[in-house]
Amino acid sequence: MVTVSFPFNKANLNLITLSFLGDLEEDFLAEYFNKSLKHVRIALLLSIFFYGIFGILDALLVPEAKERLWVIRYSIFIPYAFTIFLFSFSSRFKKYMQIILTSVVVLAGMGIIMMILIAPYPGNYSYYAGLILVLIYGYTFFKLRFIWATLAGWILVVGYEIAAIWLSETPVPILINNNFFFLTGNIFGMFACYSIEFYSRRDFVQARMIEAERKKVHAANRALEKRVQERTEELTLSNEELKEEIEERKQAEKALRESEEKYRSIIEDIEEGYFEVDVAGNLVFFNDSLCKITGFQKDELLGVNNREYTSHETAKKMYQTFSEVYRSGISAKMIDYEVVKKDGNRMILEMSVTLMKGGSGKPIGFRGLVRDVTERKRVEEELKKSKEIAEAANLAKSEFLANMSHELRTPLNHIIGFTEIIVNKHYGNLNAVQEEYLNDVLQSSRHLLSLINDILDLSRVEAGRIELETIDLSPRRLLENSLDMIREKAVKHRLQMSIDTDGVPEIIKGDERKLKQILYNLLSNAVKFTNDGGRLSLNARVKESLTRTGLQWKESGDSRMAEGLQEGLYNAVEKGKRYVEFSVSDDGIGINQEDLLRIFGRFEQVDGSAKKKYQGAGLGLYLAKNLVELHGGKIWAESEGPNKGSTFRFLIPV
Ligand code: ADP
Repeated sequence: MVTVSFPFNKANLNLITLSFLGDLEEDFLAEYFNKSLKHVRIALLLSIFFYGIFGILDALLVPEAKERLWVIRYSIFIPYAFTIFLFSFSSRFKKYMQIILTSVVVLAGMGIIMMILIAPYPGNYSYYAGLILVLIYGYTFFKLRFIWATLAGWILVVGYEIAAIWLSETPVPILINNNFFFLTGNIFGMFACYSIEFYSRRDFVQARMIEAERKKVHAANRALEKRVQERTEELTLSNEELKEEIEERKQAEKALRESEEKYRSIIEDIEEGYFEVDVAGNLVFFNDSLCKITGFQKDELLGVNNREYTSHETAKKMYQTFSEVYRSGISAKMIDYEVVKKDGNRMILEMSVTLMKGGSGKPIGFRGLVRDVTERKRVEEELKKSKEIAEAANLAKSEFLANMSHELRTPLNHIIGFTEIIVNKHYGNLNAVQEEYLNDVLQSSRHLLSLINDILDLSRVEAGRIELETIDLSPRRLLENSLDMIREKAVKHRLQMSIDTDGVPEIIKGDERKLKQILYNLLSNAVKFTNDGGRLSLNARVKESLTRTGLQWKESGDSRMAEGLQEGLYNAVEKGKRYVEFSVSDDGIGINQEDLLRIFGRFEQVDGSAKKKYQGAGLGLYLAKNLVELHGGKIWAESEGPNKGSTFRFLIPV
C-alpha cells in the first residue's frame, strides 16, 4: 500500500484511496461533512437548475424527441435530486452522503447517456458534452471524495462507451473525437478531485497541528503566566519581607544608638571612674570621674599604662589580677589598690575588672570601675580599732565580773549557811524579832546569791568561756526535773502544773545542765508572774522545718508573737533540720505586744521602776536567750496581752 507520512505530524495517508489510517480518518470525515453540507445543498439545487434549464436545448436541438428527454429530466432526475436535497436535512444523511451524491452524479450522467440514445441527430452526437459537465460537477463541485467521484466517472465512461459503440452505432471519427474530450475530461477531473481532497486533507492535518501547537502555546502561555504570577507574588512577598527587615534594622539601629547614648551618659554620670584598657594595660577610654578621682587631666591619662601610677607591688598585684581575668574570662575585684594621685598623695581604690571581647570573641582589653575608698578604709580602720578596744574592755569587764562574783559568792555562802543554822535554831532559841530579821537576811542573801550566780553565768557566756556539753538525754525527765526545782514554790502558790511531751523522741541530744537552767529561768518567771491558784504547763514538741513555707508554726499562735518575730524565726531555723520546741505557759499577768522582744534584753523588765512589785534583775531571760542561741536555737515569748497569760518557747536543734 502506498502511503505518505505528512512530515508535520506523521499522519499516514493512503495515497490511492486518500484515507488516513487510524482515528484521524473519522475525524477528518466528520469535519469534511460539516464543512461540505451547505455547499452540497447549493450544488444539488444548482444541479436541479442546470438539468432543468437544459430542457430548452432539447426543444431547440431535437424538438421531435423533446418530450421523452423531458421525462428523463423532469420526472426522473430532478425529483431524485430534490429528494436528496430534502434528505440532506436528515441526520442520517451524514452517513450516506458520499454514496448518495455518487448516485446523483451517476443518475445525471446515465440520464444524459439515455438522452444520447433517444435523441436523433445531432443530439445523439453532441450530448456527450453534457456528460463532461456532469464529470466536472462530480469531480469538483459536489464535494465527492476522490474514490467516489472516480467510481462515478468510470461508471459513466463505461456506460457511454456501451451506449455509443453498441447501442447507437456512432460513426468512428465522432466516437474518437468524443472519447478524446470525454476521457481526458474524466482524467483531468480525477486529477482535480485528487488534488482537492489531498490538499484539504493536508489542510486538515495542518489545522490540527496548528491547533495542537496553539494549545501547547496556550498551555505554555498559561504556565508562563502562572509562573510570572507566582514569581511576582514571591517577589512581592520578599519585597515585603525586605521592607520589614529594613524597618527592623532601622529600629534595631535606633535602639542601639539609644542604648549607646544611654550607656555613654550613664558612664559619664556615675561617680565611679570608668576605664577601658587594651590588653597591654594602656588606657584607651575613661570617663571624667576617673580624672576627678586621680586628679589628672584627660590628655595626661590617655594612653598611660596602669603600671605608671601605682607602686611596684600594686602593679604586680594588678598584673596578676588582669592575667587571671584574661585567662578565666571571669570578672574580678581588686580591693586595696593603692594609687599615687597627681598631687603625690596616695589613695586607695577599689577596682572591678572585666574582660572586653571583640566581634570575633577574642579578648581586646579590659574594662572596669574604680572607686576611691580611701576615706572608707580610714573609717573602717578606726572602727576596727575601736571595736577591738571595746571588745577588750568588755572582756576585761566580764573577767572582772567573773572574778568578782566568785569572790562575792564565797562570803555570801558563809552568810547564808550560818544564818540558816541560826534560823534553824541549832544553837538556841530566837525571839520573834530576831527570827524575823534573820529570815530577812536569809531571803536577801539568797536573792543576792541568785543575782550573783546570774551575773557569773552571764559573764562566762559573754567572755566566751562557756561551751556546750552535749549528751543523750530524756526530754521527759528534763522537764520533770526542771519542774521539781520550782515545785515547792508552785505548791505554795497553789499552781496547777502539767507536762506534755507527746511525739517527742525518748532520747535527744543536748546540754542538760544548760537546758535545765533555761527551763528553770522560764519556770521561775512563770511562778513569779502567776497569781495564786493559776495554771502552769510545760510542753515539748517536735518541729520539722522542711522548707520555709513548710514550717508548721501555726499551732504556736502566730498572732501572739511579737511583730516581725515570725520572719526572724524563719531565718533562724535551718531548713530541713529537726527541732524540739520547749514551751512554758502560764495564765499569769501576760505581756504587752511591744514588750515581747524587749524583755530578752540585758537587765530588761516590763516594770523597771524602783517600786516594782516583782523581784528580779532582768537577767533571767537574757541568760536563757544566750544559752538557747549557744545551742543554735531561738527563743521568743507570746502573749495575748495583760492578764492573758504568757508562753515562752524555744527551739533546740536535735
Ligand atoms: P526578772 O528577773 O526581772 O524576772 P527576766 O529577764 O527573767 O528578769 O524577765 C524580764 C521581764 O520579763 C520580767 O521582769 C517580766 O516583766 C517579764 N516576764 C518574764 N516572764 C514573764 C511571765 N511569765 N509573765 C509575765 N511577764 C514575764
